[in-house]
Amino acid sequence: MPSRPALRIPPWLRVKLPASGRCSGTARLLADLRLNTVCQSARCPNTWECFGASVATFLIMGRTCTRGCAFCNIEGGRPEPLQADEPGRISEAVRRLGLSHVVVTSVTRDDLPDGGAAHFAAVLRAIKADHPGTTTEVLTPDFGGDCAALAVVLAAGPDVFNHNLETVPRLYPAIRPQADYAQSLDVLRAARDISPGLRVKSGIMVGLGETNEEVRDVIRDLHDAGCDIVTVGQYMRPSMAHPEVERYVRPEVFEEYAAFGRSLGVPHMFCAPLVRSSYNAALFAPKAEDL
Ligand code: SF4
Ligand code: SF4
Repeated sequence: MPSRPALRIPPWLRVKLPASGRCSGTARLLADLRLNTVCQSARCPNTWECFGASVATFLIMGRTCTRGCAFCNIEGGRPEPLQADEPGRISEAVRRLGLSHVVVTSVTRDDLPDGGAAHFAAVLRAIKADHPGTTTEVLTPDFGGDCAALAVVLAAGPDVFNHNLETVPRLYPAIRPQADYAQSLDVLRAARDISPGLRVKSGIMVGLGETNEEVRDVIRDLHDAGCDIVTVGQYMRPSMAHPEVERYVRPEVFEEYAAFGRSLGVPHMFCAPLVRSSYNAALFAPKAEDL
């Protein structure tokens, strides 16, 4: 049977390229410091906007992931050794970019006994030591559900802890086959229990084949897990080798997701087609003067 033609990208997802040269300046700075970003590795559609505003999300522990989520553009395979000087290089990038809020994420490192928790903590400590007025956010893997590893990261004092569910539980076998929906919810609950004052954040993409009712169920689960911040954005196919977009969700439906989450009591719902979990992350971080 012939496959159906790909859906046309709707006008609300067409990104206008800025005229500013700051975008290439940010890219050069990151290359100079040999740093990876999820912005580039995941081919995020907001890269022009974020780099143009001197904002980036650092991708630590290499560019190769031990997992292979179907939607993700990050390559899978045998990962690189950890680099002991990476925390210092990230701290230097924070200085040069003048960041008031830093988001750090990583590939999943199932090959490391602690899943890379100690390295995450080292990056946080370097940023906090050099930039005490800068707030920090980590977007971590599930650490295989290892709460001791999670506690190592949280002991380094991030202001926001983020772990994404990515999609609805029914689609996990196809989209996120090496992860477990219940385990990811447990990670969020554990973060809330270990550090009660922490802002806990998670999110999903839509357009992978889920229904709106399933999206509402996930938002309810995230509320029940104690999330303060929930993001919902449109899945966009990074290449022809990735799963097709099953639907483009209209902006007003994103507003309905946000209203639903707020009606449950989630303090910050950030739902829009181009929202990614690190998009405008500083908006929902605590202010440095309030810490
Ligand atoms: Fe990078 Fe996040 Fe901006 Fe995308 S939304 S470009 S991942 S900072
Ligand atoms: Fe991409 Fe994260 Fe999945 Fe690895 S675990 S393939 S980095 S989404």
